[in-house]
Amino acid sequence: MPSLVLKPGREKSLLRRHPWIFSGAIGRVDGNPDSGGTVDLLSSKGDFLARAAYSPQSQICARVWTFDPSESVDADFFRRRISCSLAVRAGLRPAPTDALRLINAESDGLPGLIVDRYAGTLVVQFLAAGAEYWRETIADLLLELTGLKDIYERSDADVRELEGLPPSVGALRGALHETRITIHENGLKFLVNIATGHKTGFYFDQRENRRRVRQLAEGRQVLDCFCYTGGFTVNSLAGGAKSVLSVDSSADALALCRENVSLNALPSTLHPSPSTLHTTLEGDVFQILRKFRDEGRQFDLIILDPPKFAPTAAQADKAARGYKDINLLAFKLLRPGGILVTFSCSGGVSAELFQKIVAGAALDARVDAQIVEYLSQAPDHPVALNFPEGAYLKGLVCRKA
Ligand code: SAH
Repeated sequence: MPSLVLKPGREKSLLRRHPWIFSGAIGRVDGNPDSGGTVDLLSSKGDFLARAAYSPQSQICARVWTFDPSESVDADFFRRRISCSLAVRAGLRPAPTDALRLINAESDGLPGLIVDRYAGTLVVQFLAAGAEYWRETIADLLLELTGLKDIYERSDADVRELEGLPPSVGALRGALHETRITIHENGLKFLVNIATGHKTGFYFDQRENRRRVRQLAEGRQVLDCFCYTGGFTVNSLAGGAKSVLSVDSSADALALCRENVSLNALPSTLHPSPSTLHTTLEGDVFQILRKFRDEGRQFDLIILDPPKFAPTAAQADKAARGYKDINLLAFKLLRPGGILVTFSCSGGVSAELFQKIVAGAALDARVDAQIVEYLSQAPDHPVALNFPEGAYLKGLVCRKA
């Protein structure tokens, strides 16, 4: 077995069972490991620490498959891990849905592998050299263990570049099927485009939060910022919102958002009336919020679910300014008693920092507000305790006094 021998004193994170090892910690490469091939990670004294996938091009030069010296990495290994992930989901009893994340990479002991289920179709992402190396084995096992026939690949995330892997998109198993799929979540329907949508098509991680927004929306004038294909919009309308204005910079996302509103035959589309209305607005949220402030527009519920401003801690300062800006404006646009549901999915911004930013925004907006609820990612996106990086989504529900 080829091996990576660590520099003296660099084994601490592996002893705490963190699944990544950085290239700077490696003293020597023994043997001639393939990209994605299996290597043993050894301490400088030669002690076994873990068995991992080699990513020669990445700063994260190995991702751990197992800490057990007696466990080999082969088809049976993947069968055990995939079965375990499926069993975890079966035991979770999440909100009723036919669409959920079945495998959440590092947090399910399968670094670099994402598997999402959209009704009868699986969408996979192989995001690291190791997952890529085992792709055919994994694809066969997924069909066998789920009983489904179709797998679509969406290995086009930026992180593949860091691994030296080209993008790869298309049918991986099964016939080339319809890439617009209808899923069901909490009694609502959503059309998802698995070929062109963000991530694998839909934001499963917000499922429980969409349900909360539905419960909060009744009778309120809602502003859904960064609405994408309308997850929060459709839930707000279903929850009896007085009106919903959905804002996004993507015309395609807004078109699908409108389709999703119609698909659910929500009152706004059946009986458009001034009191129940859905409208979309294409543009930059930063500019639109400013314009609304200047016009004195007011809302009762504002959702801010922006894209990742800071993938890593290095961009945290710039991201903090972005978050503060939109949260400050949102506080100003809220009526007294209004609710702000605000998120950050930036790995580089901790929950603590995010709360500080939102507090700073309220202060500068000269608004008194309280946090009435802390939100995070849905249970099909578990966070392994040895992999705190897995906890990326944080949300606050704030009530303006
Ligand atoms: N809330 C959505 C997910 C949001 S993803 C859901 O629950 O499904 C982030 C969205 O922000 C994307 O649709 C992207 O098109 C949009 N976006 C990114 N930057 C933007 C900007 N400056 N102004 C408006 N929309 C933006």
